[in-house]
Amino acid sequence: MPSILIVEDETAIADTLIYALESERFTVAHFTTGSEGLNYLQASEPDLVILDIGLPDMTGLDLCREIRRFSQIPVLFLTARSSEVDQVLGLELGADDYVTKPFSPRAVVARIRAILRRGRSQNESDTTLLQHDEAKMMIQCCGQPLSLTAHEYRLLAILLSQPGRVFTREQLLEQAWHDPGSAMDRTIDAHIKSLRSKIRKHSQEAADTIQTRRGLGYTLVF
Ligand code: CA
Repeated sequence: MPSILIVEDETAIADTLIYALESERFTVAHFTTGSEGLNYLQASEPDLVILDIGLPDMTGLDLCREIRRFSQIPVLFLTARSSEVDQVLGLELGADDYVTKPFSPRAVVARIRAILRRGRSQNESDTTLLQHDEAKMMIQCCGQPLSLTAHEYRLLAILLSQPGRVFTREQLLEQAWHDPGSAMDRTIDAHIKSLRSKIRKHSQEAADTIQTRRGLGYTLVF
């Protein structure tokens, strides 16, 4: 089972994460300061690190910089403010992803699974989760064809065309609706919701690949 290091000084947040991860059978180590986290990393090799940005002795960004001197371990940042998101994205520290507080522990676990899968292999069996047959205009989930409406199909095809890219609702409307003027942002949310629930019937893991970026839009992450 994968092991995760959490460096987070807010005990309540750490406890929620530890509970969610351990119930999914991850092994978890937790420290409240950057220096303890760094010491642990120099002695052990977890599969992924979750870093809070606001730590008592250093910022999570500084810690990540230290970690990058000797390790390419995947890093997931926990951010409390949008200004921190900008820093994470701006500094190109090799962060694999970030989650803004407050977050749902389930979403974080899904994000972690996605990062670990991505790291394991780019071309392994991951693609069988969702497969697009463009000629047949059909998308399969775990080998089973999904029964989608035209809009659902186009939405999912767009997300699948560039995994990892965040599409805004406006972009999705423009590309998936022939007459976007008649539709609204909410329309996208409703269609994503029904897409997820159709996919979930085949695979929870596949449904989790469609992720919401709050305030931005949607992305598909294997
Ligand atoms: Ca903190």
